[in-house]
Amino acid sequence: MIVVDKRECVGCEECLHVCPTEAIIMKNEKAEIIQHKCDQCERCIPICPVKAIKIVYTQLN
Ligand code: SF4
Ligand code: SF4
Repeated sequence: MIVVDKRECVGCEECLHVCPTEAIIMKNEKAEIIQHKCDQCERCIPICPVKAIKIVYTQLN
């Protein structure tokens, strides 16, 4: 899944503009990804100037 590290996010909102599914919202001036809306396109990752958006691999078992 794709997540925002809130300690690193500077609230620039750049990621909101590139997300095709409007999965990113601002909450207390930090970006947050609504997981059920995110289609994992990864477009937001290279856009973030402070590299606050990460891919997290979760294990299902
Ligand atoms: S990975 Fe794609 S769909 Fe998911 S939040 Fe980023 S830009 Fe939006
Ligand atoms: S592009 Fe990065 S710093 Fe800017 S709002 Fe999104 S996650 Fe935060």
